[in-house]
Amino acid sequence: MGKSYLDPTIPLQKEMGVQIYGVLNGSTLEFIRQECEGEYLDDCAKEHRERRGMMIEKNVVPDIYKLCQQAKDAIGFKQNIDFYLVSDTDINAGSIESNDPVNHPHIIELNAGLVNLMSKQELLFVIGHEIGHLINGDGQLKKLAQFIYADKEDDDIPDFVSNRLELYDLLCELGADRYGYIACGGDLKTSILVIHKLAAGIDLTKMNISVDALIKENQKHLDYFMGSNKSVGSTHPVHPIRIQSLYLFSTAESQDQLEKSMEDIEDRLNKLNEEDATLNYFYAAAGYLLSNVNVEASTLQKQTIVYRVGGKCWFPEDFINYVIENKNIEELYHDTIKLLVEMDEENKLVMMDFLLALAFVDGGFTKKELDFIYDFGHEVGYSDDMVAAYIKELLPRNFRLNLTF
Ligand SMILES: [Zn+2]
Repeated sequence: MGKSYLDPTIPLQKEMGVQIYGVLNGSTLEFIRQECEGEYLDDCAKEHRERRGMMIEKNVVPDIYKLCQQAKDAIGFKQNIDFYLVSDTDINAGSIESNDPVNHPHIIELNAGLVNLMSKQELLFVIGHEIGHLINGDGQLKKLAQFIYADKEDDDIPDFVSNRLELYDLLCELGADRYGYIACGGDLKTSILVIHKLAAGIDLTKMNISVDALIKENQKHLDYFMGSNKSVGSTHPVHPIRIQSLYLFSTAESQDQLEKSMEDIEDRLNKLNEEDATLNYFYAAAGYLLSNVNVEASTLQKQTIVYRVGGKCWFPEDFINYVIENKNIEELYHDTIKLLVEMDEENKLVMMDFLLALAFVDGGFTKKELDFIYDFGHEVGYSDDMVAAYIKELLPRNFRLNLTF
């Protein structure tokens, strides 16, 4: 047989998947979600058949049918998939995972716009990419999150969740790309060209560009945008990360070497993620100090700190432990207050809000906690009256009944 490949699994994707599944209570809610989903897949299949397009069958569209099978074989994926050609001019493809592929095959849809535009080799990459999503179960977490937050506006989904899903989405793409690469026979150039076409909307196939030139150009692009201070996702194109990740996968000589070289990408992503690190340092330091003014920090208080830090950091407990073990907490607390106030006056309220949330979360707002908050207020230039007024302002969102009888 042909080439052999490294294991396409991305450990960080797995780790992040487990973490998100856990925080979303996946072990119980996923069951409920599946119960509620019911005949959803059948409905999708029906809708495809009747309204939007056609099933890719051997005797109808033999060429594309063959490609789909070829991609499956190259990857070694045995479960049932129904492939559909959808009459949509958007250049796109998608997959819908089945929990029971024996009776309800997975679905992969290829838009007509895509099929028209791509060579056979390129289509193999696209189909392989979609199969990769099925193999990794990428749709599941998104469906679970949608199930839980169905009636909420995007703004209502906590940062803790959306921040993780954003990274997870990106990692899913990186993971799926590896299967696309395998499906097209380890053809790096084709893979990169498809990513350009799909993610950047640029067709470079007709220009005679070498793989080396593509990689070099990409490296520059990557350095440029990873150097600027913006968040992952919407504001930044993800295709340079996808191309770099695929390049590493195709050139690494061992699994170890691959994981090592991927760390660079992960570190860069993490730096983007932690652009507001000052606030996180404040949360960690202030959280530690305030939650320990009583006998010791309560579980609820610890969770509140993790939750806040986790809005901008993927492994908040690691971060908090790192801060507690390595920093002078008192110093860090005062330094970060100063920095944050210099950055933005509004941060005074952001900090105060956190302190109040922490004081109330376990029900008992104690005198010691109150003193701590007054000291904080004086430190940022508030008079006693102002501290009281701000506490009143922030009270409705933070108040909890004291049920510690
Ligand atoms: Zn994808």
